[in-house]
Amino acid sequence: MLALSLKKAFPGFRLEAHLEAAEGEVLALLGPSGSGKSTLLKLIAGLLPPDEGFVRFRGEDLTPLPPERRKVGFLFQDYALFPHLSVAENIAFGLVEARWPKGERARRVAELLERMELTPHAQKKPGALSGGEQQRVALARALAPRPRLLLLDEPLGALDRRLREELLLFLRRTLREEGVTALLVTHDQEEAFLLAHRLAILKAGRVVQVGRPEEVYGRPKDAWTARFLGHKN
Ligand code: ADP
Ligand code: MG
Repeated sequence: MLALSLKKAFPGFRLEAHLEAAEGEVLALLGPSGSGKSTLLKLIAGLLPPDEGFVRFRGEDLTPLPPERRKVGFLFQDYALFPHLSVAENIAFGLVEARWPKGERARRVAELLERMELTPHAQKKPGALSGGEQQRVALARALAPRPRLLLLDEPLGALDRRLREELLLFLRRTLREEGVTALLVTHDQEEAFLLAHRLAILKAGRVVQVGRPEEVYGRPKDAWTARFLGHKN
């Protein structure tokens, strides 16, 4: 189980979040721009120090660990692939860093190439791929070292509608097959419904409602939440 309780203040903004996610659960974070979604992911990843609080996974306190020791995978909108490395080398990157033995590394890369339907592109450079294919490489790279937690910050936000739908299906299948616990920031209702087991609604740095998508949409906690959800799409 993932459990977190975090506080962070910037001038004019205060985040205070308490959340839990079961193992293998996909929890979507929804909220208006500036509500603290990205800040929360950065705190969980260790990219930003909290003012107070903790992040625990299976009872282990991750708070004192630097990002590279938290075993957290990221997928952001502006996925930066290494342009000089091949697709296969991009996917293997974290495995080399984590000193996976060569044979296991090759098996894991082959498995992900296959799953993401990237096998024919294995030796190409990212620049030779379409936007959707590049984002699939980024997803494979994030998942390769078997992170215990995957953080997705509007992963499909930069793609056009057709590519978004295509990648949505990949993402859904992959999250299930890998069974990884994930926090997904999204603006897209369809994405939240298709991918998430539960939604958490953020408003000005606070979690105002958490529940299964149909619960949250069916019974929004207050007028603000109803309006926020109603205005989506
Ligand atoms: P969201 O991802 O929900 O759009 P963010 O987490 O990016 O929101 O930002 C939440 C608030 O924190 C905003 O008011 C933003 O301006 C502020 N903020 C984010 N990062 C910093 C920072 N490094 N320094 C100061 N203020 C920041
Ligand atoms: Mg953001």
